Amino acid sequence: MQLGDQRASGNVEDRRGIGMVGGGLGVGGIVIAVIAYFLGFDPGTAIDVAQQVAPQREMQAVPKGAPADEMGQFVAKVLGSTEVVWGGIFQQSNRQYRPPTLVLYDGQVRSACGLGQAAMGPFYCPGDQKLYIDLAFFRDLQTRFQAPGDFAQAYVIAHEVGHHVQNLTGTTRTDSNQGSVRMELQADCYAGVWGHHAGTLKQLEAGDIAEALNAATAIGDDRLQKRGQGRVVPESFTHGSSEQRVHWFKRGLDSGQPKACDTGSAL
Ligand SMILES: [Zn+2]
Repeated sequence: MQLGDQRASGNVEDRRGIGMVGGGLGVGGIVIAVIAYFLGFDPGTAIDVAQQVAPQREMQAVPKGAPADEMGQFVAKVLGSTEVVWGGIFQQSNRQYRPPTLVLYDGQVRSACGLGQAAMGPFYCPGDQKLYIDLAFFRDLQTRFQAPGDFAQAYVIAHEVGHHVQNLTGTTRTDSNQGSVRMELQADCYAGVWGHHAGTLKQLEAGDIAEALNAATAIGDDRLQKRGQGRVVPESFTHGSSEQRVHWFKRGLDSGQPKACDTGSAL
């Protein structure tokens, strides 16, 4: 990506290295969260379960604003780019975009949705309108999922921002797996919408789109299930297959229009 001219967003809480006061999760909680992640369950479910295992703890004061380190700057600039793009899109329909806060953390974090675990991957909590990202996931994306590249990482952030857009526009999650898949594919499509406009802002480089498509393929439910349990169970999909994720990301990318992301009618 070419983010040199992009303003870094100040809507970042850097909880890296702060951790949570007191001991860690019990082994049971970690096992539950890891299993839930690999089976592709909704992270919210895993948080609920994990929270029952972990006692309440206090948080330390958290630094706010764009972090100074390279990775923190990258994340803050991608977030800044999503603010520019979604701000413009909302403005076109005379609405104001209220940006989310991005929380960087290590290992585990307390959110309004319960206890977040790095093993669950990045998540968005509608209750506090924050995106939670453990940078270890970006390393995983590169090594375990073989999806390297800065735009692959940006796609993950833009997908979580997509969930925030759903929250602002009143799209609510249903409990069924199919409802969850629709929401996830729409978030992928919204990530593509952002990618389209990032391209217009000259923030994309050759190879960036391929990185995102590769990442969408790598974290499809079918691919994850095959890695996690050796077989594919489509009824338990919560994010969609690799092919579906690629399809919807491209739809947003090609059109640049949120209204192209009508996954409800298309599934
Ligand atoms: Zn999602």
